[in-house]
Amino acid sequence: MKSNIEIQRIEKSKIDSVDFNNLPFGSVYSDHMLECDFINGEWQTPVIKPYAPISLDPAAKIFHYGQSIFEGMKAYKDADENTMLFRPLENWKRLNKSAERLVIPHIPEDIFMEGLKKLLEVDNNWIPTNEGSSLYIRPFMFASGIGFHASPADSYKFIICTAPSGAYFAGKVKVLIEEKYARAANGGVGFAKAGGNYAAQFYPTQLAIEKGYNQVIWTDDNSHEYIEEAGAMNIFIRINDTLITSPTSDRILNGITRKSVIQIAEDMNIDVEVRKITVSEVIAAAQSGSLKEMFGAGTAAVISPIATFGYHGTDYDLPELENPFAEILKKAITDIQTNKAEDPYGWRVVLD
Ligand code: PMP
Repeated sequence: MKSNIEIQRIEKSKIDSVDFNNLPFGSVYSDHMLECDFINGEWQTPVIKPYAPISLDPAAKIFHYGQSIFEGMKAYKDADENTMLFRPLENWKRLNKSAERLVIPHIPEDIFMEGLKKLLEVDNNWIPTNEGSSLYIRPFMFASGIGFHASPADSYKFIICTAPSGAYFAGKVKVLIEEKYARAANGGVGFAKAGGNYAAQFYPTQLAIEKGYNQVIWTDDNSHEYIEEAGAMNIFIRINDTLITSPTSDRILNGITRKSVIQIAEDMNIDVEVRKITVSEVIAAAQSGSLKEMFGAGTAAVISPIATFGYHGTDYDLPELENPFAEILKKAITDIQTNKAEDPYGWRVVLD
């Protein structure tokens, strides 16, 4: 880092206007944000400043060529007021993987980690303590450099904003297995958290919502026969007592929740298979009664159980189970995240 992080504190906090018992997800923002510019080939001194709109040139390449990437992570506070992060270096590494694919400069570890820790220190009272709530953290980078030519920009911004948030999904979801559209293709950017990936999901998702579903289950772009992701989450499918999840690829985001769920499930002696799974296999399992659970896994919802999936005009209901894997695994992972359980993996990072 060029020099120490500069801090400009807000004059009057907005925190008294926030109802922490009734938090939406990701739409109330904390007092401060961190901003750091990449100019003349180097990252400048990061600044923590009051949360406010930013000013950009209309010719900034973010607007025209979509050079934009982001991360999603959470901070938690336990009963003793300890502040914790979950595997934050994984987010830093993935941000730089996304950066490479979009020809955005790498963000150094110290700007990401020290900047984040300092921001959480400054806005510490914004980290919710109630059950199920957390501080959602959104680090992002985009092209602020200008020019109407389709080439990488010469300057970038790295920003971290935070949002105290309640639970992401209320209840079980109804999903539609996609037969026409795809969120990613081989050789493309599906593995990166590039803004454009999400813009491309909106239209097919809107069509699914119009048909009465909450989300789309993405299938491969070529045959639409292989199940890949669940909305903006990785997918897990339980057939009998085996938990199956698609292998990551060019098209599938390497989710941190997914990785953690696989590890925890294996350590609980749950049989986990990381392999391709077809729509036909899932339908056959639903028809024979061996399909027990389907759930999405991601930072925002942690684990989001699927109640029903639709395919080719038919809806298939998942059974109601006592002690589903989804619940057991969600508890195990959130207990580690929130300091309610031992963390044999060293995933939890308690801040000073
Ligand atoms: N897939 C997609 C497309 C996502 O956007 C996310 C959210 N980052 C995930 C999976 C889950 O990743 P993680 O567990 O790291 O949040």
